[in-house]
This record gives sequence, C-alpha cells and structure tokens, in this order.
Amino acid sequence: MHSFDMKQRTVICGAGIAGIATAYYLSVTLGRKNIVLIDKLLPMSLTTSKSGENYRDYWPQACMADLSGHSISLMEKLIQLHGDVFDMRESGYQFVSRFLGEDIFSEADRKTDSAIKYCKDQSIIRQQHAYLSESIRQLVTISRAGAIDVYALGTLLLREARAAGVILMQAEVTGLSSPAENMFEVNFHASHCLAPMPCEQLVLCAGPFNQALAKWLDVDLPLISIPQRKFVIPDPLGIIATDMPFTICADPITLNWNEEETQMLSADPTYRWLLEELPPGLHIKPESKDHIKLGWAFNRHAEQPEWEIPDDIEFPDIVIRGASHFIPGLRPYVDVMPTPLVQFSGYYTRTEENLPLIGPLEIPGLYTVAGLSGFGTMTGCAAGELCALHMEHEELPSYARHFHPDRYTDAEIMLEINASNSDGQL
Ligand SMILES: Cc1cc2nc3c(=O)[nH]c(=O)nc-3n(C[C@H](O)[C@H](O)[C@H](O)COP(=O)(O)OP(=O)(O)OC[C@H]3O[C@@H](n4cnc5c(N)ncnc54)[C@H](O)[C@@H]3O)c2cc1C
Repeated sequence: MHSFDMKQRTVICGAGIAGIATAYYLSVTLGRKNIVLIDKLLPMSLTTSKSGENYRDYWPQACMADLSGHSISLMEKLIQLHGDVFDMRESGYQFVSRFLGEDIFSEADRKTDSAIKYCKDQSIIRQQHAYLSESIRQLVTISRAGAIDVYALGTLLLREARAAGVILMQAEVTGLSSPAENMFEVNFHASHCLAPMPCEQLVLCAGPFNQALAKWLDVDLPLISIPQRKFVIPDPLGIIATDMPFTICADPITLNWNEEETQMLSADPTYRWLLEELPPGLHIKPESKDHIKLGWAFNRHAEQPEWEIPDDIEFPDIVIRGASHFIPGLRPYVDVMPTPLVQFSGYYTRTEENLPLIGPLEIPGLYTVAGLSGFGTMTGCAAGELCALHMEHEELPSYARHFHPDRYTDAEIMLEINASNSDGQL
C-alpha cells in the first residue's frame, strides 16, 4: 500500500506508451521526482497492445517526419544503452500502385529528408517482387522504417522509470478538479485507497479517454476516436516471404464481387458501401515465419470511446479481398480464410488534421500527450520527451509549435497545416 501526500506532485493518468514514455523522460532523463503513473488496467493493455508496431520516418508533413525521425533516433539510443530488447527491425516499407501518371508521394508532399527510392520499371518490379500483381507499375521504398515490439519497449521504459522512483498505481481515475492555482485533485477508485490525490502537475495520457478526463476540468480537446483493426492469420500457402517489407497499397480499391454478391450488397443499405471505392492504405506484412498481419483503416466513423470494442466479423473478409488485388496469391484465402484468426481492435484517437496534441493546456500545470492516432508506437518516445521538456521548461525542438495544444490560434502554423494535401494516415 502506498501513502500519498502533497510531495507526490506529478500525476500521469494513463500507462499506455504515451504515459510511460512521458514518465521515463521526466524521471530518467530530466531527473524529476515524485511522479505517480496511474492506470485502471495493466500497462499498455488498451490501445498500445493493438498496435501493428510499424515505424517509418516518411510523412507528408515535415513536423511529423521530424517527430518520428527523432523518435526512431531515441529508440536507437535506448538500444545502445540497454541492447536490442525490443526487437527493432529495419525491414522497410514499400508502397505500391497500378498507376504511373502521378508519383505515389507527390512533389508537394515530399517535405522530408527521408530516404525514399522509386522504381517505375514494371519488369524490375516483376523480377524482384514476383508475389505482386502484374498490374503494379510503381513501387516506392522507405528505408528508415520497420517494426518494433512496443510492449517490450514500454516494459523497458517503465522498468527504468520505476528504478528512477516513478510509482505505478492500478486505479481508475474517476474525477479531476483544480481547487486552487497550481493544484489538482485526482479522484480515483482503487481497492486500497480512496482519498483524492493532490498534485501540482497533471498529465493526461489516457488515449481514447483524454477528452473525458479533460472535460472534468472544463477543458475541451479537439479529438475524435475511430475504431480501427488489424488481424493475424496463418499463411499455409507461404505467399508472403518472411523478408517482405511492410507493403501498402497506395491506390483506392473497389472490391471484386460476383453477380450474386453484387445484387445482395446493392439491395442491403447496411452493406451497399462495399460496392464503392475504398480508400488507399491497405497494408500487409509477415508477422512470423508462417503468419501474416493485415490492416486497412478504411473506417471514417467516429464513435464515443468504450473500454471494449467488439470484433468485426466482416473486416477480415473485406481486407483479404482487397489484398488479393495487389497480391493475387492470397485469393484462395478469400474462399477459405485460414484459421485461427486473431483480431486487434482499438481507436485511432486523432485531431482532424491528424497531428497530435503535446504540451501544456490552458490551466497552468496541466499537460497532455493526446491524439497519437495510428502513429503512437513510432512517435511515443519523442512525444513523451516533448511533453517532459515542456514540463521542465527546457529548450524545445522546432516541431513543438506544431503539436502545441493551442496551435489553433497560431495563424502561421495553421496556414502550413491547412496547406498539406495528405494527413499521412495508414
Ligand atoms: C489497430 C491499430 C493499429 C496501430 N498500428 C500502429 C502502428 O503500426 N504504428 C504506430 O506507430 N502506431 C500504431 N497504432 C497507434 C498506437 O497504437 C496508438 O497511437 C498508441 O498506442 C496510443 O497510446 P496511448 O498511450 O496514447 O493510449 P493507450 O494505449 O490507450 O493508453 C491510455 C491508457 O490510459 C488508461 N486510462 C484511460 N482512462 C483512464 C482512467 N479514467 N483511469 C485510469 N486509467 C485510464 C487506459 O487504461 C490506457 O492504458 C495503431 C493503433 C491501432 C488501434
């Protein structure tokens, strides 16, 4: 049992990758003491455990490229210090398209130093990537990209933070108030302690529930939460090689249906959308020696976040159908889906422009790391570090302005944000 008094002045709500990274950079790197990290669940068991665990330094927005590029460097630094305990693999990303007319990444969107390589020679693509459809005419490779084990990364950061004095507490935060300047009270529900906990710094890292927590303090965070999914299946036919990079279809896809299916779908208003063009971004990668992982963030409907998201039984069928458009070897799996199938459902909690909110909110002492959307694994370290730098009034990196929660009042930043053609979501 812990006793809490006024000395415990920094409370971080949420032990997903955002809260854990913030706790790490505050305590280990910047030496802050008296930090309590609270989560209702086991660390990283909400959105963080649903991640596809991919990273890349290419983004259409320069600020996002800088944030993820720096986060990758921070992860490399952790490996230098502790060894490769989170299995960082630079396996690359490749975007493929059937079209030659426009570059997959338009000139206007190429604002980053990321090393990208184009191949527009169909015969070379055929020769080097025989599993791809013959219709693929353009392929772009991002080399500073790959996958990590985010649970192992978070475990490392949490272990080091706890060694530096951070207290991890399992409890549900049930209310927040600010009875005096620079003072907050955190109400929580735990079996062993029910008194409100006072603190002078409060950090909201509650993933899909950040908005709800901020509301208790009359702060409005411009976030929406959209359910997205991935799934893992066996690959009994060995269609996907274990060294295939994370492969993304850059084209929109209209699914193939036979005549009978088309008639059924068009007669049913709930499913008619499956006859329409679905957005680009379907992705697939080898998950282990004989398993593959697929995802497609085509859902655009925001929902009120819930703690449990039911599986979507249609999702795997839709995705495998789409994937067979650019990897035809997967077609047999449209007829007979390999099992066991494991689905991962979580929210992309995001701002409209898909940039995160990191830093101080309008009440002094209140901070957030929010809106990590589909990029919290790859940017988690840099996002936590940025919040910690704000809290300790350290020198801030150039991208801090773009992610500042009050950026909406900054005309120059908003002009730049509004000029971007793509929000980079995958
Ligand atoms: C299907 C899917 C695939 C993804 N793939 C990738 C990918 O390939 N690469 C990538 O970079 N990112 C990916 N992401 C995004 C990434 O997973 C998230 O951005 C990241 O996990 C968000 O972390 P978080 O700490 O902000 O939120 P969470 O992990 O949700 O953590 C928030 C924590 O706050 C706690 N909490 C909330 N309310 C309370 C309360 N009242 N009291 C106590 N505790 C509370 C929760 O229990 C939770 O543990 C993916 C996301 C999804 C859904």
